[in-house]
Amino acid sequence: MRITVEQARCEGHGMCVDAAPDLFHLDDDGELVVLPEGGLVPAGQEDRARDAVRVCPIAALALDR
Ligand code: SF4
Repeated sequence: MRITVEQARCEGHGMCVDAAPDLFHLDDDGELVVLPEGGLVPAGQEDRARDAVRVCPIAALALDR
């Protein structure tokens, strides 16, 4: 499972960070950083990744299976 972010759409709301703090981080400039290498969701984090996608208010996140 891989996370992708449409950076141009992301507005830095941070809900995804709250939902999955091990997967996302907002840097000092408010840019969203996907923490896992290549966006690959580690085993056991899949539900949190789905939660993050669901809570993003502008649907800037997507998951590939
Ligand atoms: S919740 Fe959506 S808009 Fe907010 S930081 Fe995450 S991806 Fe960006």
